[in-house]
Amino acid sequence: MSYLSWLLLVSGSFAVIEFLKPARKAQPHLRPQLTNDLFYLVFNGHLWAVLTGGLIGALATRTDSLMKGASVFPTVDLLTGKSLIVQFVVYLLISDFLQWCVHNLLHRVPFLWNFHKVHHSIHQMDWAGNFRFHWMELVVYKSLLYIPLLFLGGEPEPLFAVAVFATAWGHFNHANFDVGIGPLAYLFNSPRMHLWHHDSSSEGGLGKNYGIVLSCWDYLFRTAYWPKDREPGRLGYPHDDEMPRDIPRQMLFPALPSKVAEDG
Ligand SMILES: [Zn+2]
Repeated sequence: MSYLSWLLLVSGSFAVIEFLKPARKAQPHLRPQLTNDLFYLVFNGHLWAVLTGGLIGALATRTDSLMKGASVFPTVDLLTGKSLIVQFVVYLLISDFLQWCVHNLLHRVPFLWNFHKVHHSIHQMDWAGNFRFHWMELVVYKSLLYIPLLFLGGEPEPLFAVAVFATAWGHFNHANFDVGIGPLAYLFNSPRMHLWHHDSSSEGGLGKNYGIVLSCWDYLFRTAYWPKDREPGRLGYPHDDEMPRDIPRQMLFPALPSKVAEDG
């Protein structure tokens, strides 16, 4: 099954779950910006598939060249010969930590924050918001992954499984679906915790809960903030009315923030 087939299956599943058991019942299923987000899902989903496919292809080429004794890439080979489960866990830990670092920078570096504002323009959280982000984010995220993953060796299949798993967990984090995961919340991200990442106020700091799949990085590096007794008052970011509502201008927004903001 291709990545895009998995993406459609995961998306359809969360659409059904939200329909049957929404956390915020007053939130309309057909909300503003939904059409845009479905476009982002297909556009970024395709780009995600291409970039992830490139990673997997490069890894397959490397594995093949190793089998033939050629040395196209440097060889460390920590994962070669290990079980698929071990490879999956190592890929997940490394890729998730790298993405946590990048996400942190997206919030702290003003130039990068202009790109990430597109994702933080979400006012009503649901699974469809998971893929609302500027395509440049994906290029940065995935390009960084080439370096460590090529050094690790191993099989392409666990890497593909991590890509699908991370997508499903991202949908889960954004879903309008209220489910607690108990003590596992210190290891894995969840909808309740991620809602606070999208909080528009400065309560707990402007940047908090950077985790993608895993929340442990936030607990480890003291960037976790999660009042358990309530939800954020408002989602978005300060002055987010500057964000244009149409996709072409959202794409242009990071390049021309002040100009577009005036037009918007
Ligand atoms: Zn963010």
